[in-house]
Amino acid sequence: MALPVRRFDAIVVGAGGSGMRASLELARADLKVAVLSKVFPTRSHTVAAQGGIAAPLANSTEDNWHWHMYDTVKGSDYLGDQDAIEYMCRRANEVVVELEHMGMPFDRLESGKIYQRPFGGHTQNYGSAKMAMRSCAVADRTGHAMLHTLYQQNVHANTQFFVEWMALDLVRDPQDGAVVGVTALEMETGEIYLLQAKAVVLATGGSGRIFAASTNAFINTGDGLGMAARAGLPLEDMEFYQFHPTGVYGAGVLITEGVRGEGGYLLNKDGERFMERYAPNAKDLASRDVVSRAMTTEIKEGRGCGPDKDHVLLKLDHLGPEVINHRLPGIREISIKFANADPVREPIPVVPTVHYQMGGVPTKYTGQVVVPEGSNMETILPGLYAIGECACVSVHGANRLGTNSLLDLVVFGKAAGEQVIKDLRLAPSPHRALPKDAGELTRSRVARLDSNADGERVVDVLGDLRRAMQAHCGVFRFPDDLQKGVEKVKEIAARSLRTFIKDKSKTFNTARVEALELDNLVETALATIVSAEARKESRGAQARDDFPERDDKNWMKHTLWYREGNRLAYKPVHLKPMTVEAFEPKKRTY
Ligand SMILES: Cc1cc2nc3c(=O)[nH]c(=O)nc-3n(C[C@H](O)[C@H](O)[C@H](O)COP(=O)(O)OP(=O)(O)OC[C@H]3O[C@@H](n4cnc5c(N)ncnc54)[C@H](O)[C@@H]3O)c2cc1C
Repeated sequence: MALPVRRFDAIVVGAGGSGMRASLELARADLKVAVLSKVFPTRSHTVAAQGGIAAPLANSTEDNWHWHMYDTVKGSDYLGDQDAIEYMCRRANEVVVELEHMGMPFDRLESGKIYQRPFGGHTQNYGSAKMAMRSCAVADRTGHAMLHTLYQQNVHANTQFFVEWMALDLVRDPQDGAVVGVTALEMETGEIYLLQAKAVVLATGGSGRIFAASTNAFINTGDGLGMAARAGLPLEDMEFYQFHPTGVYGAGVLITEGVRGEGGYLLNKDGERFMERYAPNAKDLASRDVVSRAMTTEIKEGRGCGPDKDHVLLKLDHLGPEVINHRLPGIREISIKFANADPVREPIPVVPTVHYQMGGVPTKYTGQVVVPEGSNMETILPGLYAIGECACVSVHGANRLGTNSLLDLVVFGKAAGEQVIKDLRLAPSPHRALPKDAGELTRSRVARLDSNADGERVVDVLGDLRRAMQAHCGVFRFPDDLQKGVEKVKEIAARSLRTFIKDKSKTFNTARVEALELDNLVETALATIVSAEARKESRGAQARDDFPERDDKNWMKHTLWYREGNRLAYKPVHLKPMTVEAFEPKKRTY
């Protein structure tokens, strides 16, 4: 039986900060836009963002977009595309002021201007020892405030939300590969639909749940990446996975870098402020890859804290209860709940925890998805756009600076919205015809789950996947471990094709949803570990024991992973910015 079809101008898959910034642009242009989300929009993971959004507003220290651009290029370990980075930094003030005018309740300075705090890797004057106060914050709940502001604006602009709808696969036109829609599961009824559109925007967020210990929500299962991979598209730079230095020991919940921005610092078992040895200038506010590696080294060399010497301490009691309660109230609550430590009196036990995926679906700064075709490594794929954490623009390169993600969401969410509007003016009207076999892939995935009476339990395969990734693809990467990890994840991928679910009911069947999510987690994990094993250098978040140095001669290039045969290809980094001089790669010190 044919799947029921619903038709829109544009579909945005994901209602986080990036998805809702794009949909706002589209709805304001009076387009018929559908936003799909697995959860209620304001529960999207952006809600968890704590420390702030970067913009060189210069409210507390001197600042400008050139300095921000330099820091971002350096932070990316020179793998970021400099044209896209320039674009983002130049538009930062505009998009943050827009959020303010939409009603986002930023903290204020005495002068009434937006409050800004320092953050890791953000400096003044092209990397000087002086930190820039660039992170615009709403206490330690910036993402919460941003998401609610964007949701209200979308409601006002008549965006149509499909809440608890899960997109499953992309639908492509066999003629030219253009994307013409998605298949989606309405969780409440268990029905599957074909949603047809002239433009599909992927905004599905991260995939932190491929690891066992993560700051990410359970819904962060890399769905957009899985959809792209199954549709034959490559995933870019997936080896670069950021470990945030300060996850609560044992729980993984995030303690924002804003704590160190406000003056908190890390200690080892001897009470030593060890970051002074690793980053004499920026100290605890060096970039995240540097701090995470330093912490792991302290623990490995026996200077960790606690009976097992397996964590370090984050001290902030010296800030006093007033600053903690006013600027970091959520952190105090998290620490009391998850670490049983009240930071007003005692330090928080922390370990580096999986946090952010720098790679994703390859895109231009306009949000348009680009793929290799013939000799052109970046041909625009008609009908498909990607934004936010699931996209690789690439502004974060091998390592993202804190507060640059929320910025990326709104800059590229808006840019993609603008591009879709332009493209739709030229698109054929009415819609292109759907291919005859539209929805077949989805139907076969769901039919397998419905018919299999036995096989692998989803929870077992998932647990093994997460443990394998945690053990074989961590802060430091070892050649044997990586090779074994690739084999393990391939075996797990084969097992994931034999999963079954006991509960075959249709109404709000979360077992079916989890089984479908597993497919996406498997694609993402494979992309990550296969790409990591192949890159024979250390750069940003990829720290190899056997190749400890960055190798610009051989590895200044983006990885592209294809699902078919786990094939890898490479493409050049954009070293030329749009209007300014390029920042030449040099040794990165903080
Ligand atoms: C704890 C924490 C704190 C952070 N703090 C900061 C910070 O202070 N500053 C900063 O810059 N960055 C921060 N980050 C990073 C930043 O918050 C994220 O990178 C960003 O919010 C991701 O936004 P997004 O729009 O890409 O996706 P998300 O906000 O994750 O939204 C994804 C959306 O996609 C939907 N979705 C997913 N799959 C499907 C599917 N198959 N079908 C339908 N819908 C789907 C989800 O329901 C959701 O609506 C933090 C991250 C974490 C984990």
